[in-house]
Amino acid sequence: MKRICIKVFRKNGEPIRRVLLDMELLDNSARICSEGDFLCLPLTREPEESELINLPGEFELSEHGFEQQKGQLKLEELLDRVPHFEVIGDIALIEDDVPEPEKVAEAIMKVKNNVRTVLAALGPVEGEFRTRRFRTIAGEDKASTIHREYGCRYYIDLEKAYFTPRLATERSRILAQVREDQTVVDMFAGVGPFSIMIAKKSTGIRVIAIDKNPDAVEFLRRNIELNSVPNVEAIEGDAHLEAGRFSGLADHVIMNLPHNAHEFLDAAVRLCAPGAIIHYYGITPEDDLFGSSLELIGQAAARAGRTIEVSDTRIVRSYAPHQLNVCIEVKVL
Ligand code: SAM
Repeated sequence: MKRICIKVFRKNGEPIRRVLLDMELLDNSARICSEGDFLCLPLTREPEESELINLPGEFELSEHGFEQQKGQLKLEELLDRVPHFEVIGDIALIEDDVPEPEKVAEAIMKVKNNVRTVLAALGPVEGEFRTRRFRTIAGEDKASTIHREYGCRYYIDLEKAYFTPRLATERSRILAQVREDQTVVDMFAGVGPFSIMIAKKSTGIRVIAIDKNPDAVEFLRRNIELNSVPNVEAIEGDAHLEAGRFSGLADHVIMNLPHNAHEFLDAAVRLCAPGAIIHYYGITPEDDLFGSSLELIGQAAARAGRTIEVSDTRIVRSYAPHQLNVCIEVKVL
């Protein structure tokens, strides 16, 4: 089978293999192969530019034929229909409406060697702290784990604080925009996936990470230690109030509270140094993806006597039928 791959000098292969594994870009169903002095590492999909800059050393993006890993069981061989699921650390999450959840969980545990627990969500992400309840379907009865992403590690308890691996690419996009001497305010930091990844890029970057959920901030503090990033300041508090302490300091403001970010726009504008960028996440209907949100951002800027310039608008992922999770990036002048 043909696959897009990373071609790298054999001696540089291992560090790149590890990073690809963390980024969930390495295709474990295919066997890594060699070509003279080079190794070809098969990928699950074409990587984004912003992901490629995270790979250490020299390499080339190429295409190659690969053999299937021997003896590797596939979920399709065990289940008639493979439901959507995601893996966070050693926990697999399925939705609660999945038919025959025990059978699905057993198949996942058989195929995914690193999975020790399968949880089913008991409802949607809800409440001010954006948390979710789960029931254990198979394996160890737990909701806490350590998740690896782009070379960072995160302690997480899925019932106590929000976390999704689906924003990994999005986080790498923001990372690519932050320069070494800049200040970033992550207004809704959770356990710290944006903050920590950005702080790890350079000790010259200052990150102020705010969250109102005391459990999330406890994990954030542990994650700062775990990833050795003392340049992240963890603050437990309401972003409305805390923003006042850092007026005009931020070069980047991350607003990842998609249902309610519009309520915090005045605080976000207050944080902005001249020319700062607000990274605004929203859930919007497909017939008004960016317009209304841009109007609200413009109005908040005008209330502070500032103007905005739109840098980028993009769809991050679909959220529900006819509703999308979008990112709007504006420069505040
Ligand atoms: N950025 C994190 C991530 O990507 O995993 C977390 C995002 S989660 C969608 C939103 C976070 O905002 C939650 O952790 C929640 O506790 C926090 N939050 C909600 N209201 C807040 C407020 N008024 N001030 C600060 N944080 C708040």
